[in-house]
Amino acid sequence: MSHEFARADETTAHYLIRLIEREGPISLGRFLGVANHDYYASRDPLGSEGDFTTAPEISQMFGELIGLWCADLWDRAGGSDTLQLVELGPGRGTLMADVLRAAKACAWDPVLHLVETSPKLRAIQSGVLPTAVHHKDISTLPDTGPMIVIANEFFDALPVEQLVHTADGWRQNRVGLERARFVLQSGHEPMEHLLGIDQRALPVGTIVEIHPAAAQIFEVLSRKIAALGGALLLIDYGYALPGSGSTLQAVRRHMPVNPLTEPGQADLTAHVNFAPLARAARKAGLSVHGPVEQGQWLTALGIEARMRTLTAAAPEKTDSIAANHRRLVHVTEMGRLFKVMAAVSSDWPEPAGFVYQD
Ligand code: SAH
Repeated sequence: MSHEFARADETTAHYLIRLIEREGPISLGRFLGVANHDYYASRDPLGSEGDFTTAPEISQMFGELIGLWCADLWDRAGGSDTLQLVELGPGRGTLMADVLRAAKACAWDPVLHLVETSPKLRAIQSGVLPTAVHHKDISTLPDTGPMIVIANEFFDALPVEQLVHTADGWRQNRVGLERARFVLQSGHEPMEHLLGIDQRALPVGTIVEIHPAAAQIFEVLSRKIAALGGALLLIDYGYALPGSGSTLQAVRRHMPVNPLTEPGQADLTAHVNFAPLARAARKAGLSVHGPVEQGQWLTALGIEARMRTLTAAAPEKTDSIAANHRRLVHVTEMGRLFKVMAAVSSDWPEPAGFVYQD
């Protein structure tokens, strides 16, 4: 996160205005990095009272199946060494708590690591997961393995950069000021070199997003897992084939808002582009499974059987359990937009759930 320019005790918007007045228009990614850092640092954004709701907050079934997925994979890999279990951006710690509860009966005793920048969310996570070790970024994760890394709705929160095809060629989208308002402006530097041949030919007006922060984290973790043995499980909304167009969105109290008007007050996200992340993992020597649709993956892992067990234990909750199941798997809800991809070290077995269906 770039915080080279000293912060005073001021709002996010005020800081960004001073930064742009001093340095001129800044890249969209830098704007997003500052805005999201402040946003997460100051609040618990999750749940019906907050700004958005994630899969683990919808139903315990989500984290439970991930827990069994992890324990099964570790067990089939030999299950002898202590597992380092890492979660990136754990929110309220709900997913990890469900992972551990579901896999309690498995003979594993993983060491927990949580990568989290927000002091507010760290405090909530420590309450739920008292033994977990916190990390501000991935650089302090252990060098011993094996290691499984879980990331649900983490990569979408990392800053995205946009390249736009103008009449003068490809340029970076930057955030400048017009009458004290944040506006998108195109930069002056040519940016063709960041695009593939096919992308350069896209019509004038096209926006292509690139994800330097996500790529950097994925590359480092892929190399680490290749060396230590283990797996990386990525669940997020996004696209598997190269796409174009802006996917930047801002959400506040479950409603879309303008991404530039309230920096630090709204959750800013962009769809994850899975293809370059898969390439980075393969380059590091990992085998890549998926991306598949979240609905297919959860169904292949047995979410329906889990739903029947929960319903049998609490028949009065049958309707709400069924409604939450639908939210997670149905193609018009989270089932299709959300994708699941795993990158696994070459000495580990095939992970469960990656069946391909038409
Ligand atoms: N995985 C959780 C929360 C998703 S919200 C869930 O599914 O419910 C995004 C999470 O990532 C939050 O915990 C946020 O504080 C954290 N986060 C965002 N940017 C981060 C960064 N650059 N480094 C570490 N954590 C980050």
